[in-house]
Amino acid sequence: MNQDLRELYQEVIIDHGRHPRNFKKLEDHSHSQEGYNPLCGDRLMLYLKVEKNRVIDAAFEGVGCAISMASASLMTSQIKGKTLEEIQQLFQAFHCLVTTPEPPASIQDCLGKLTVLGGVRDFPTRIKCATLAWHTMNAGLDSKIHEQAVSTESSTDLSEESSTGEGKEQPVER
Ligand code: ZN
Repeated sequence: MNQDLRELYQEVIIDHGRHPRNFKKLEDHSHSQEGYNPLCGDRLMLYLKVEKNRVIDAAFEGVGCAISMASASLMTSQIKGKTLEEIQQLFQAFHCLVTTPEPPASIQDCLGKLTVLGGVRDFPTRIKCATLAWHTMNAGLDSKIHEQAVSTESSTDLSEESSTGEGKEQPVER
């Protein structure tokens, strides 16, 4: 990568790190998930609004290094309007971008602005900063599916436990 391009990428990361987009709580979210990267101390809360298999809104709050904030900012901007399948493809491409020494050009095309984060592949300790938002998103989507599966099994609130079972009631003495 030439020096100018590297500097441009640096600028985008600093810009998004200092002024993250979609940095707010999404009140009417359908999914929320906390993510934490203990290696760096990055912490974020991700909110998604999913309708009919499509992310129609995404936002986050949190504190962390410029890479983690820029990554969450760019990710939330890019996933809006995409279907869950498209987002999985984007995640695969992004993961390849930050972990593969020479990612194919096709991957860079599909990632758009997210390619600015490709530089972290030279700094293994920063890869988790860049992928935190993505892993948080996947965990949030997974846990919601699980919750829904569970809730369909117990849609009515029958929480009273069946009592000891043994010891039938003594008949009333006559
Ligand atoms: Zn970090």
